[in-house]
Amino acid sequence: MNTLKYNSAILLIICIGILNVNSQTIPSTKASIEGFNDAPKLIVGIVIDQMRADYISRFWNKFSERGFKRLVNGGYLCENNYINYTQSETGPGHAAIYTGTTPSINGIVSNDWYSREKNDRVYCVDDFSRESVGTVLIDSNGKKSPANLLSNTIGDQLHLATNFKSKVIAISLKDRGAVLPGGFTSNGTFWYDNVNGKFITSDYYMDTLAPWVIKFNDRKVADSLMKLTWLPSLDIDKYSESTPDDVPYEGVLNSNVLELNKHTFPYYLNKDTLRKTKYKTLRVTPYGNTLLKEFALAALRYEELGKHSATDLFAISFSSTDYVGHNFGINSIELEDTYIKLDKDIAEILDYLEANIGKENLLIFLTADHGAANNVYYSKDHHIPAGLFDSKITEELLKAYLKEKFGVDNLILKFTNLNVYLNQKLIDEKKLSLYEIETAVANFLLKCEGVAYANIAFEIPIFENTYAFHKWIKNDYNAARSGDVLITLLPNWMEWGNTGTTHGSPYNYDTHIPLIFYGWKVVNGTYLPEVNITDIAPTIAHLLNIQPPNGCSGKPIPVPLNGSR
Ligand SMILES: [Zn+2]
Repeated sequence: MNTLKYNSAILLIICIGILNVNSQTIPSTKASIEGFNDAPKLIVGIVIDQMRADYISRFWNKFSERGFKRLVNGGYLCENNYINYTQSETGPGHAAIYTGTTPSINGIVSNDWYSREKNDRVYCVDDFSRESVGTVLIDSNGKKSPANLLSNTIGDQLHLATNFKSKVIAISLKDRGAVLPGGFTSNGTFWYDNVNGKFITSDYYMDTLAPWVIKFNDRKVADSLMKLTWLPSLDIDKYSESTPDDVPYEGVLNSNVLELNKHTFPYYLNKDTLRKTKYKTLRVTPYGNTLLKEFALAALRYEELGKHSATDLFAISFSSTDYVGHNFGINSIELEDTYIKLDKDIAEILDYLEANIGKENLLIFLTADHGAANNVYYSKDHHIPAGLFDSKITEELLKAYLKEKFGVDNLILKFTNLNVYLNQKLIDEKKLSLYEIETAVANFLLKCEGVAYANIAFEIPIFENTYAFHKWIKNDYNAARSGDVLITLLPNWMEWGNTGTTHGSPYNYDTHIPLIFYGWKVVNGTYLPEVNITDIAPTIAHLLNIQPPNGCSGKPIPVPLNGSR
């Protein structure tokens, strides 16, 4: 065969191949969407609190075909979705998902932070100018609003784009899991009041609780669930992905109740009759998710989501996965069983959505706000470096060091969430150099066991964006809310107790989280390149042909759509 001809034939085959591949996988473009009329009727955001990306594969053989597997097998899985800032916590996570930007811009630098202005701790969704709705007025559980959020959300943008014809509803057991996703203009944001076992809101949103929420509360679903005994869904020896039931890495379910002061099955929930703990205990079981599932089905039905002329948005955040993970640790049978039961709750929501709204009219995304680490002693027992960082002791030692070095007492205002806030007023008065003190603090901290980095506020804004953790620390830093020195611990080090675990680091176990798009025209497949938590909101905005949220710094993910030109 003539070489030239042969080469041309190969080139032709390659070209056809490329064209074919492109026609199947080319990302959707604006031109491919025929205006806003072509948009899905309902966007459903499902956030699983503390779900690591590897749980999909770890629990794959235990999942049914109708829940997580249905989303993966029918949707578009972004396998490398990472949080792109260091404070991997619930508040920053939910804010980043729905604002499409990092704490440096949306202001949610942590679940709580120290305010120099108020000389007090600020919790991310507290708003004491508001009143509780749905519970007693003096109850602070309802005094919430998005007032601390500095940029708007995808739901707000949807409202702006549709002249407020869209309906945006956000629900969670956690206030911050609902308030931050709901944004400034939600039509209803509801969370669980763990004092009275009801779903509540604040007068930021409405003056009286929506009738369907009152009706739901009257069903006393939380009370019914607390009559259950938490038993494993499978024979206990089938939990091959987890440690045995009785290991020292797990916390007890409820130390106030004799029968629940243990970490082994079965858990007789009806033994918790204490008013002060009963509704809290529910959160630390899979039935907290079941309660939210029931509330989600009621919201879909009564708010008629997906049945309006414009696209609606429904934000659901499941929190019990986080409570169970913190309490029992990520290797526990309790955690695995919580995911097996959540899989069924998610299946029920998907069944309802597909039967009543239709898969072709729905666009679902499922993600998480953060992951979690292995229990420190579990890691140590397997010879993997890990440790507990004691910020109280470190703070005392640091204070003594600064007093000796600069001859001034009280140079530290607050040491919280690995942020050191210096007494800038006193430093000014004493005509000391802030830069010098920040540097001294950082140098001291770098010598403390468990500290990987101590970065000073002077250097963070001018970090080069070349090194991952520098970039992420920069994405965390908000001059008005962050400290003067930001600490990053070593991998698997944490501020926590001996049992269970936590999160909040820039490391993979905390920042590698799932992301699946499903429904509407989404083509089944996987995407390997790294994407970030902040890319979710601009992807939804792109698919809807609307503006991304106002502070958005993420980029749309090329989710392939059927029928794209
Ligand atoms: Zn947590």
